[in-house]
Amino acid sequence: MRQRMVREQLVPRGICDPAVLEVMGQVPRHLFVDQGLAVSAYKDHPLPIGYGQTISQPYIVALMTQELRLTGSESVLEIGTGCGYQTAILAGLARRVCTVERLRPLSLQAREVLAELRIDNVLFRVGDGTLGWPAMAPFDAIIVTAAAPDMPESLVEQLADGGRMVIPVGSRGMQSLTVIEKEGGNLRQRVVEMVRFVSLVGKEGWEEE
Ligand code: SAH
Repeated sequence: MRQRMVREQLVPRGICDPAVLEVMGQVPRHLFVDQGLAVSAYKDHPLPIGYGQTISQPYIVALMTQELRLTGSESVLEIGTGCGYQTAILAGLARRVCTVERLRPLSLQAREVLAELRIDNVLFRVGDGTLGWPAMAPFDAIIVTAAAPDMPESLVEQLADGGRMVIPVGSRGMQSLTVIEKEGGNLRQRVVEMVRFVSLVGKEGWEEE
Protein backbone atom coordinates (compact mmCIF):
# COMPACT_ATOMS: atom_id res chain seq x y z
CA MET A 1 0.00 0.00 0.00
CA ARG A 2 2.88 2.31 0.80
CA GLN A 3 4.57 1.69 -2.55
CA ARG A 4 1.25 2.26 -4.30
CA MET A 5 0.86 5.56 -2.41
CA VAL A 6 4.26 6.65 -3.76
CA ARG A 7 3.43 5.53 -7.31
CA GLU A 8 -0.11 6.85 -7.54
CA GLN A 9 -0.22 9.91 -5.25
CA LEU A 10 3.29 11.34 -5.22
CA VAL A 11 5.08 10.71 -8.53
CA PRO A 12 2.20 11.84 -10.81
CA ARG A 13 1.91 15.11 -8.85
CA GLY A 14 5.53 16.06 -9.31
CA ILE A 15 7.34 14.65 -6.29
CA CYS A 16 10.62 13.69 -7.94
CA ASP A 17 13.36 13.98 -5.29
CA PRO A 18 14.54 10.34 -5.09
CA ALA A 19 15.47 10.63 -1.40
CA VAL A 20 12.00 11.98 -0.54
CA LEU A 21 10.28 9.19 -2.51
CA GLU A 22 12.47 6.62 -0.79
CA VAL A 23 11.66 7.69 2.79
CA MET A 24 7.98 8.10 1.94
CA GLY A 25 8.16 4.50 0.76
CA GLN A 26 9.83 3.38 3.98
CA VAL A 27 8.23 5.13 6.97
CA PRO A 28 5.28 3.04 8.24
CA ARG A 29 2.58 5.73 8.25
CA HIS A 30 -0.02 3.32 9.69
CA LEU A 31 1.88 3.21 13.02
CA PHE A 32 1.27 6.93 13.55
CA VAL A 33 -2.54 6.79 13.56
CA ASP A 34 -5.13 5.02 15.71
CA GLN A 35 -5.26 1.29 15.08
CA GLY A 36 -8.81 1.67 13.81
CA LEU A 37 -7.62 4.09 11.13
CA ALA A 38 -4.58 2.05 10.07
CA VAL A 39 -6.38 0.69 6.99
CA SER A 40 -6.85 4.29 5.79
CA ALA A 41 -3.32 5.43 6.55
CA TYR A 42 -2.10 5.29 2.94
CA LYS A 43 -5.14 6.95 1.39
CA ASP A 44 -5.06 10.30 -0.38
CA HIS A 45 -6.37 12.47 2.48
CA PRO A 46 -5.60 13.77 5.98
CA LEU A 47 -6.67 11.79 9.08
CA PRO A 48 -7.59 12.79 12.64
CA ILE A 49 -4.93 12.22 15.31
CA GLY A 50 -6.97 13.37 18.32
CA TYR A 51 -7.26 16.70 20.16
CA GLY A 52 -8.85 18.25 17.06
CA GLN A 53 -5.60 17.86 15.08
CA THR A 54 -4.82 16.02 11.85
CA ILE A 55 -1.97 14.23 10.08
CA SER A 56 -1.53 15.78 6.62
CA GLN A 57 -2.31 14.00 3.37
CA PRO A 58 0.78 12.05 2.15
CA TYR A 59 1.20 14.32 -0.90
CA ILE A 60 1.36 17.47 1.26
CA VAL A 61 3.96 15.87 3.57
CA ALA A 62 6.05 14.94 0.53
CA LEU A 63 5.63 18.35 -1.12
CA MET A 64 6.65 20.31 2.00
CA THR A 65 9.61 17.99 2.52
CA GLN A 66 10.75 18.27 -1.11
CA GLU A 67 10.60 22.07 -0.91
CA LEU A 68 13.17 22.01 1.93
CA ARG A 69 15.73 20.39 -0.45
CA LEU A 70 17.44 18.47 2.34
CA THR A 71 20.78 16.81 1.62
CA GLY A 72 21.46 15.03 4.91
CA SER A 73 23.59 17.60 6.74
CA GLU A 74 20.87 19.96 7.96
CA SER A 75 19.57 20.93 11.36
CA VAL A 76 15.80 21.20 10.92
CA LEU A 77 13.17 22.88 13.08
CA GLU A 78 9.64 21.48 12.88
CA ILE A 79 6.69 23.29 14.45
CA GLY A 80 3.69 21.03 15.10
CA THR A 81 5.00 17.54 15.91
CA GLY A 82 1.48 16.10 15.94
CA CYS A 83 1.69 12.34 15.57
CA GLY A 84 5.34 12.54 14.51
CA TYR A 85 4.93 11.23 10.96
CA GLN A 86 6.38 14.30 9.25
CA THR A 87 9.10 14.29 11.92
CA ALA A 88 10.09 10.74 10.97
CA ILE A 89 10.25 11.67 7.28
CA LEU A 90 12.51 14.65 8.07
CA ALA A 91 14.69 12.57 10.39
CA GLY A 92 15.47 10.25 7.49
CA LEU A 93 16.67 13.14 5.33
CA ALA A 94 18.50 15.51 7.69
CA ARG A 95 21.20 15.38 10.34
CA ARG A 96 18.89 16.40 13.17
CA VAL A 97 15.29 17.45 13.74
CA CYS A 98 14.19 19.71 16.59
CA THR A 99 10.41 19.44 16.88
CA VAL A 100 8.02 21.54 18.97
CA GLU A 101 4.42 20.66 19.84
CA ARG A 102 2.07 22.63 22.09
CA LEU A 103 -0.06 19.65 23.16
CA ARG A 104 1.92 17.45 25.54
CA PRO A 105 0.01 14.17 24.94
CA LEU A 106 0.71 14.35 21.19
CA SER A 107 4.40 15.04 21.79
CA LEU A 108 4.66 12.09 24.18
CA GLN A 109 2.89 9.77 21.75
CA ALA A 110 5.16 10.85 18.89
CA ARG A 111 8.23 10.22 21.07
CA GLU A 112 7.06 6.66 21.68
CA VAL A 113 6.49 5.82 18.03
CA LEU A 114 9.83 7.29 16.95
CA ALA A 115 11.60 5.37 19.73
CA GLU A 116 9.93 2.16 18.54
CA LEU A 117 11.19 2.88 15.03
CA ARG A 118 14.68 3.51 16.49
CA ILE A 119 14.81 7.03 15.09
CA ASP A 120 17.28 8.78 17.36
CA ASN A 121 18.18 12.10 15.71
CA VAL A 122 15.10 13.98 16.97
CA LEU A 123 14.82 16.40 19.90
CA PHE A 124 11.30 16.99 21.25
CA ARG A 125 9.95 19.99 23.08
CA VAL A 126 6.53 20.93 24.41
CA GLY A 127 5.73 24.62 24.08
CA ASP A 128 4.75 27.48 21.79
CA GLY A 129 6.55 26.84 18.52
CA THR A 130 5.70 30.28 17.10
CA LEU A 131 8.67 31.42 19.18
CA GLY A 132 10.90 28.76 17.65
CA TRP A 133 13.66 27.10 19.68
CA PRO A 134 16.23 29.90 20.26
CA ALA A 135 18.76 27.72 22.09
CA MET A 136 19.12 25.41 19.06
CA ALA A 137 19.07 28.14 16.37
CA PRO A 138 20.02 28.82 13.64
CA PHE A 139 18.26 26.18 11.52
CA ASP A 140 19.07 25.27 7.92
CA ALA A 141 15.42 24.43 7.35
CA ILE A 142 12.16 25.22 9.14
CA ILE A 143 8.83 23.53 8.52
CA VAL A 144 5.56 24.67 10.09
CA THR A 145 2.76 22.11 9.86
CA ALA A 146 -0.02 24.37 11.16
CA ALA A 147 -1.60 27.46 9.57
CA ALA A 148 -0.18 30.87 10.49
CA PRO A 149 -1.88 34.28 10.03
CA ASP A 150 1.53 35.80 9.17
CA MET A 151 5.14 34.73 9.02
CA PRO A 152 6.26 34.42 12.68
CA GLU A 153 9.16 36.90 13.11
CA SER A 154 10.98 34.61 15.57
CA LEU A 155 11.09 31.81 13.01
CA VAL A 156 12.42 34.11 10.28
CA GLU A 157 15.14 35.21 12.70
CA GLN A 158 16.09 31.63 13.56
CA LEU A 159 16.47 30.63 9.91
CA ALA A 160 20.13 30.38 8.88
CA ASP A 161 21.42 32.36 5.93
CA GLY A 162 20.91 30.19 2.86
CA GLY A 163 18.13 28.38 4.70
CA ARG A 164 14.53 27.65 3.68
CA MET A 165 11.23 27.70 5.50
CA VAL A 166 7.95 26.10 4.40
CA ILE A 167 4.81 27.42 6.07
CA PRO A 168 1.09 27.70 5.31
CA VAL A 169 0.11 31.39 5.63
CA GLY A 170 -3.40 32.79 5.32
CA SER A 171 -6.82 32.70 6.97
CA ARG A 172 -8.05 30.04 9.37
CA GLY A 173 -9.88 28.33 6.52
CA MET A 174 -7.41 28.53 3.61
CA GLN A 175 -3.69 29.16 3.26
CA SER A 176 -0.95 29.62 0.70
CA LEU A 177 1.79 27.07 1.23
CA THR A 178 4.72 29.47 1.16
CA VAL A 179 8.44 28.83 0.71
CA ILE A 180 10.79 31.47 2.11
CA GLU A 181 14.47 31.54 1.25
CA LYS A 182 16.93 33.66 3.22
CA GLU A 183 19.88 34.79 1.11
CA GLY A 184 22.34 37.43 2.24
CA GLY A 185 19.81 38.84 4.69
CA ASN A 186 17.11 39.10 1.99
CA LEU A 187 13.94 37.04 1.93
CA ARG A 188 12.53 35.52 -1.26
CA GLN A 189 8.99 34.14 -1.14
CA ARG A 190 6.87 32.01 -3.40
CA VAL A 191 3.60 30.15 -3.10
CA VAL A 192 3.53 26.50 -4.15
CA GLU A 193 -0.03 25.38 -3.43
CA MET A 194 -3.29 26.32 -1.71
CA VAL A 195 -3.79 24.25 1.45
CA ARG A 196 -5.97 23.85 4.51
CA PHE A 197 -4.15 23.22 7.80
CA VAL A 198 -5.28 23.33 11.45
CA SER A 199 -4.40 26.61 13.17
CA LEU A 200 -1.01 27.52 14.57
CA VAL A 201 -1.98 28.68 18.06
CA GLY A 202 0.45 30.88 19.96
CA LYS A 203 2.03 34.25 20.60
CA GLU A 204 2.98 34.79 16.94
CA GLY A 205 0.09 32.71 15.60
CA TRP A 206 -3.69 32.58 16.15
CA GLU A 207 -5.48 32.96 19.45
CA GLU A 208 -7.09 29.80 20.78
CA GLU A 209 -10.76 29.59 19.66
N1 SAH B 1 3.04 17.22 11.19
C1 SAH B 1 1.95 16.78 12.01
C2 SAH B 1 0.74 17.64 11.77
C3 SAH B 1 -0.05 17.82 13.01
S1 SAH B 1 -1.33 19.03 12.89
C4 SAH B 1 1.70 15.30 11.77
O1 SAH B 1 2.28 14.73 10.85
O2 SAH B 1 0.93 14.70 12.51
C5 SAH B 1 -0.52 20.47 13.50
C6 SAH B 1 0.03 20.38 14.87
O3 SAH B 1 0.52 21.67 15.25
C7 SAH B 1 -0.97 20.00 15.95
O4 SAH B 1 -0.50 18.88 16.63
C8 SAH B 1 -1.03 21.23 16.85
O5 SAH B 1 -1.24 20.94 18.22
C9 SAH B 1 0.34 21.84 16.62
N2 SAH B 1 0.46 23.25 16.96
C10 SAH B 1 -0.43 24.26 16.78
N3 SAH B 1 0.07 25.42 17.22
C11 SAH B 1 1.32 25.16 17.70
C12 SAH B 1 2.36 25.96 18.29
N4 SAH B 1 2.23 27.27 18.48
N5 SAH B 1 3.50 25.35 18.65
C13 SAH B 1 3.68 24.01 18.46
N6 SAH B 1 2.74 23.22 17.92
C14 SAH B 1 1.58 23.78 17.53
